Amino acid sequence: MAYTVMSNAKLQFNPTATSKTRSILFSSGDHLTHLNRFCTPLPKPVLRPRRFRIRATEASQPHDYKLRLNNVLHPSKLKIAVVGFGNFGQFLAKAFVRQGHTVLAHSRTDYSLEAHSMGASFFPDPHDLCEQHPDVILLCTSIISTEPVLRSLPIQRLKRNTLFVDVLSVKEFPKNIFLQLLPPHFDILCTHPMFGPESGKDTWKGLPFVFDKVRIGEDGSRIWRAEKFLDIFASEGCRMVEMKCSEHDRHAAGSQFITHTMGRVLEKLQLETTPINTKGYETLLNLVENTASDSFDLYYGLFMYNKNAMEQLERLDLAFEALKNELFGHLHEKLRKQLFLKRDREGSMERPKLSKLPPNKGKGYALPPPSSNSEILQPQNH
Ligand code: NAP
Repeated sequence: MAYTVMSNAKLQFNPTATSKTRSILFSSGDHLTHLNRFCTPLPKPVLRPRRFRIRATEASQPHDYKLRLNNVLHPSKLKIAVVGFGNFGQFLAKAFVRQGHTVLAHSRTDYSLEAHSMGASFFPDPHDLCEQHPDVILLCTSIISTEPVLRSLPIQRLKRNTLFVDVLSVKEFPKNIFLQLLPPHFDILCTHPMFGPESGKDTWKGLPFVFDKVRIGEDGSRIWRAEKFLDIFASEGCRMVEMKCSEHDRHAAGSQFITHTMGRVLEKLQLETTPINTKGYETLLNLVENTASDSFDLYYGLFMYNKNAMEQLERLDLAFEALKNELFGHLHEKLRKQLFLKRDREGSMERPKLSKLPPNKGKGYALPPPSSNSEILQPQNH
C-alpha cells in the first residue's frame, strides 16, 4: 500500500508508488517534492488536529443498537397493502407513494400496469400479498363486497398485529365486520376520507377526514403506527375529525346520502349548461359531476348499509310531496277563483265541506254523490 503525505497533513493514496517504494509528497508553496526511497517503516505523518472537526454528535453508527431497534419498531415509512385497487384505491395509493410509503396492491381485476406506473407493486394472489407482511391492510373495496373480500384474505399469513384500516363511506358496517372477523391481536382503525378523486383532485387542504380508533393495542409501536397512518392525511392538510362510527353514519345519512341522492336525481334530468347559468345552477351542475363519477355500487352501499338512510329517503319523499302540495294548492286556489269569479261575486260559491261519509246500504261507507245533490253535504259555518 502506498500513501502520499502532504504538508497540510492530508493522507493520500499514491497510485504511482510500487510496493517497495513509499512515496511521500510534500507541498511547500508551489513546489512539490517527491521523496521516493526504500524505507521501512513509513515515517509517521504529522497530522494537525484542527483539520478534524466533529460535525455531528448524534450521527448513527452501525453498532448503535438503540437506534437500530428504534428503526425496526418505528420505521419512518409504512408498508401499506391497498386491497381494492379501483377508482378510490388508486387515488389514495398515489398520495401514499408520493409521501414515500411502500404501496402493495391487490384487486380482483389485474391492475399491474396502473400499479407499476405509480410506483406500487401489484399482487394478484392475496397469499403473496399477505406474505409481504405489510404494516397496514387498507380496505378500499366497494361497500357491498367488503365482507367476502375480507373473508378471502389469508390473514394467518400476516404479522400478528397488523393494522386493518377501511375507507368505506359507511362506518358502523365495516367496524362490525372487522370486530367479528379479525382476531383480537389485529388493530382496527375505521376511517372515511370525506372526499373523492373528483372533489380532492387538486388539494386535500381543509377536507374532512373522519376516523375512529376502534381497537389499537397499547404497545407504543402500535399506537405510533396508527398515528403515522393518520398523519398521511393530516400532513396533506385534511381536517381531522375523530368521531364514533355510529355518529358518523347519523351525520352522513343526513348530508352525504342526501347529496348523492340529489345528484343522481338531477343527473336523470340531464341538465345542460346554458349561456345564462346562475351561480346556483352551476352548483347543481357541479353536484351532478361530482356524484355521477362514483359507481352505483357506492351509492347503493350508502343506502343499504347505513341504517339511517331509509329514514332520510322517506323524509325526502315527504318533503317533495309537501312542496308539490303547497304549489298545487296555491295554483288550485287561484284557478278556482278565476273560474268561479262570477258566482263568487254573487255570493253563491261557498263550497259545502264533507262532514262524514254517507252509509252504503249497510256495507260500510261510500263516496257521496256530487255536492249539489247530496243532502249530507252541509255548508260549514266559519
Ligand atoms: P366502488 O365501486 O365503491 O368500489 C370499487 C372497488 O371495489 C374496486 O376496487 C373493485 O375491485 C372492488 N370490488 C367491487 N366488487 C367486488 C367484488 N365482488 N369482489 C371484489 N372486489 C370488488 O368505488 P370506489 O370509488 O373505488 O370506492 C371504494 C371504496 O372507497 C368504497 O367503499 C367507498 O365507499 C369508499 N370511498 C369512496 C370515495 C369516492 O369518492 N369514490 C370516497 C370515500 C370513500 P376491481 O376494480 O378489482 O373490480
